[in-house]
Amino acid sequence: MRCPYCGHHDLKVVDSRDSEVGEAIRRRRECLQCGQRFTTYERIEAVPFYVTKKDGRREDFDPQKLFTGLKKATEKRDISPERLRAIVDDIEAELRRSGRVEIPSGEIGEMVMDRLRDLDEVAYIRFASVYREFMDLQQVKREIEQVLSSRRPRCWENFSGNPNSGKESSAAPGAAR
Ligand SMILES: [Zn+2]
Repeated sequence: MRCPYCGHHDLKVVDSRDSEVGEAIRRRRECLQCGQRFTTYERIEAVPFYVTKKDGRREDFDPQKLFTGLKKATEKRDISPERLRAIVDDIEAELRRSGRVEIPSGEIGEMVMDRLRDLDEVAYIRFASVYREFMDLQQVKREIEQVLSSRRPRCWENFSGNPNSGKESSAAPGAAR
């Protein structure tokens, strides 16, 4: 690294601290020749990996997008954002450990469903219906029957039967009597 003012390469770090912006470390450096000070940022380079869609398109893995999908599937269920964040972190960690650069989106969907199934059956069915692109209620029914037969039923009273209708729950505030 060279001084941006005089080009000299004998520099001294005078201050070092974590940046408030992201994962960067901020350093104040001083040129030992001209005495000018300047700031550098150092950050860990994350190894990128990609999600390949069914139609062959490739996009960056986006934890935030995954989180948004989970939030949607668990809407009005009693699941904290921290739990969802933990699922996203867990999946990202597992994908990074795998060392692969391209991961099919369907595989990520299955990883999400594995975790949702243990957490909340309603959220699981909602997510599965979108991810597996259920074409009709028969498929939803079969999936539900599978979940029910694999574990003791609970919490089914809130299931609306149509997980694709996004605006199913627009309860007016203060409408409760
Ligand atoms: Zn200098």
